[in-house]
Amino acid sequence: MSEPSQKAKDEFYKELPKVELHRHLEGSLRVKTMMEIVRSHNLDVKDTGYLRPLVQVAGDMDYTFENFLAKFGTLRLFYKSPEIIKRITKEAIADAEEDNVWYMELRFTPVALSQAEAFPISEVIDWVIEGVHEMEGETDVQVRLIVSVNRHEQVSVAEEVIQRAVDRQQDGIVGIDLAGNEAEYAAGPFQKMFAEAQREGMKITIHAGEWGGPENVREAVQVFGADRVGHGIRVLEDPNVVRLAEERKIPFEVCVTSNHHSGVIEVLEDHPLSEMILEGLNVTINTDDPSISRITLGHEYKTVMETLGLPVWVLRERVLAAVRASFLPPRRRQQLAYQLSEAFSNVMMNYQ
Ligand SMILES: [Zn+2]
Repeated sequence: MSEPSQKAKDEFYKELPKVELHRHLEGSLRVKTMMEIVRSHNLDVKDTGYLRPLVQVAGDMDYTFENFLAKFGTLRLFYKSPEIIKRITKEAIADAEEDNVWYMELRFTPVALSQAEAFPISEVIDWVIEGVHEMEGETDVQVRLIVSVNRHEQVSVAEEVIQRAVDRQQDGIVGIDLAGNEAEYAAGPFQKMFAEAQREGMKITIHAGEWGGPENVREAVQVFGADRVGHGIRVLEDPNVVRLAEERKIPFEVCVTSNHHSGVIEVLEDHPLSEMILEGLNVTINTDDPSISRITLGHEYKTVMETLGLPVWVLRERVLAAVRASFLPPRRRQQLAYQLSEAFSNVMMNYQ
């Protein structure tokens, strides 16, 4: 049998049903939309060529976490109106549908979205929720929201954000997330507010073991009681933390290309995804920031298979692991896992 062409393979990755657990709204803006905002709001950016390196990772720049985080600073200039915030939310969902994402937990950072025009936090949260609701019935993507706060930003503001998120649980907010500069800022000051939110029914995910060491993964699991860990790839540096995560079956939201772009993994081929799987860790595959990294989730499935050498059955297992690690109620998880498993097998059969 002849090798399938690259075109056929790309079609295969696109057709696979997908589950996204780690995607930042602020890292998902279309460049075309950004240029429209530049024009309509007279932002100080002249053309697309000038804009791109400010908001996306390009081949000729240093892959460091400072450069990566700097993109989010520029992106904060764009959230100029409730309409824009609703629009980018809807477009992020439309883009996920285009990539055949069946289920997505889209996370957003209210402080980031509120900054350009000093919008009240609670209203920003409402606009994102409205964007999601307006897409219901228009797409098949099932969307839930996660609210993020950054380690490097004010703790008192984070408290307000988390409280507002808890208040809006009925509107599809299923979890809270600690993100931001892990290399230089501690998680400790956020522990109490996360614990309170957890008692109120919120699920927790913590960015840890990405720019910081395995001790941060231990802290996320033991101190925060995290339901999932964002990235967590540096867990491998400490066998005791690996054992802890394995015993507790902690799901890891791994984002391969993002880890390369932010300088955590120097050479993409050296990404430790396979090693994590061999260690028995519960990994899932995600994008992080599709626009910043110029990728789709389909692209990530392709990367793990073609660059990291994952067999398709392992990929299938990891997609199902993502369903099981989702913040949906158990019955919905089961249903989705069943449907997705069947659809995944069908796509596999069609391309054999
Ligand atoms: Zn992230």
